[in-house]
Amino acid sequence: MELPIAKDFRKFKGPEFYEAEFSEYFLLPFKFHRINDEKEVLVNEVGDFLIVPIGTARRIASRDIQKDELLYEDLFANSFISNKPIPDLIDVLATRYRTKKSFLDDFTALHIFVVSLRCNHSCHYCQVSRVSENRQEFDISIEDLTSGIEHMFRSPSPSITMEFQGGEPLLAFDRVKFGVEYALKLNETFKKDITFVVCTNATVFTDEILEFCKEHQIIISTSLDGPEFLHNANRPKSGAKSYQMVIDGINRARNQLGEDQVSALMTTTSLSLEYPIEIIDNYIENGFSNIFLRPISPYGFALKNSKKNRYHTEKYLEFYKKGLKYIIELNKQGVFFVEDYTTIILKKILTPFPVSYVDLQSPAGMINNVVVFNYDGYVYATDESRMLAEQGDFTFRLGHVKDNYRSIFYGEKARFLSQYWSNESLAGCADCGLQSYCGADPVFHYAAQGDFEGYRPTSDFCIKNMEIIRHIFDLLDSDGKALMPIFNSWINNRPRYQ
Ligand code: SF4
Repeated sequence: MELPIAKDFRKFKGPEFYEAEFSEYFLLPFKFHRINDEKEVLVNEVGDFLIVPIGTARRIASRDIQKDELLYEDLFANSFISNKPIPDLIDVLATRYRTKKSFLDDFTALHIFVVSLRCNHSCHYCQVSRVSENRQEFDISIEDLTSGIEHMFRSPSPSITMEFQGGEPLLAFDRVKFGVEYALKLNETFKKDITFVVCTNATVFTDEILEFCKEHQIIISTSLDGPEFLHNANRPKSGAKSYQMVIDGINRARNQLGEDQVSALMTTTSLSLEYPIEIIDNYIENGFSNIFLRPISPYGFALKNSKKNRYHTEKYLEFYKKGLKYIIELNKQGVFFVEDYTTIILKKILTPFPVSYVDLQSPAGMINNVVVFNYDGYVYATDESRMLAEQGDFTFRLGHVKDNYRSIFYGEKARFLSQYWSNESLAGCADCGLQSYCGADPVFHYAAQGDFEGYRPTSDFCIKNMEIIRHIFDLLDSDGKALMPIFNSWINNRPRYQ
């Protein structure tokens, strides 16, 4: 058999060939992801999506979509295809892209101050190395706290959140008090919009503390893991049962500060996995209208107690889906109750706006939106980074409060980390159809896989987010008409019939 000559294959085709075959439309950048046995979702650069039959992406790329098909109009109107190589509305697309990424405009907003490692609980999933209540050498010094606050005011952001964490920060109430008062004093000059948050186990409130919180409109963020047996098993406290103390603390804070000043977070342990419905019911019984079905993070004490804290992501996903199904049913029956993580992703899917949730952003929230001033004066890229530091790993240490602002926030370490904080450029994520709704987390991948970039096929971050986002699209596809009013009420944080 005579073999063809290679140059015949390489020969460029004439313009007539392309005109004849490919004259109908030009492709604009988009990706796709299969969401169930029949459908795939197409997602363009600004996060607009179309749910279409499987094989549509291949048909589009093959220039197989005919002008008289309805799909042609949809693809054209949603900037998946164009009648010109550069579409007329390219500037509109650019503006929309900038809007999606506008969480970067003002730089760091959330400033976390770890005022003490002391704690009166011994939660087995604790992500920091708490110490016993009497060890005051683990409180931040007034000098370091002062320097940290001065750095906070160097942030270009006009809105800042000052969040006090621990240990139990209210065991070092003098530091919280000093921090708030010093920040307010500096703000007479800087005039920023400041929000104060205290993350507390809600068991050490005194009249003085609550009076101070009321006077300065401090938001209380506490931990509630669900029913009494579960909460007490997850969050042991020597000499007392934590659950009743937390509930009393929540009610006391609500009475004094107002309902909307108190929020709660739960952590999913191995034991919690069996009780999604009971946990949700417990939140409703205790007057909450939202819950964050939050998995455990692979840091700190959580790693030491693997029986209670280690589970496969698939188990967590079953828990999440069962909980979400139940919450959706409640909403269909007229109960307004929100799942927070779903809402974060829905905002990314259904609105043109940025979502300032630091754990699911690209570029990642680290430094760009959050920074941590630790009790010992060192500055870390994220809350999880300081948890790694408590395990003796200082990889994400940016510097010390005594260093200058530039060297901490724009220094060598920050520049090094910036190579790994955009999912647009990470292997696996760069081609992922769900990229627009997901994020990058170099700290998680470093902690879990020993690699800043991470390996997607075995990454729990990826497995979790890919399945949750796919599941939400599957729900929109199968029951979108009934779900859209509910999902919109979650996005707007307003009951449907108000
Ligand atoms: S982490 Fe996974 S789901 Fe998220 S963008 Fe990357 S590949 Fe996609």
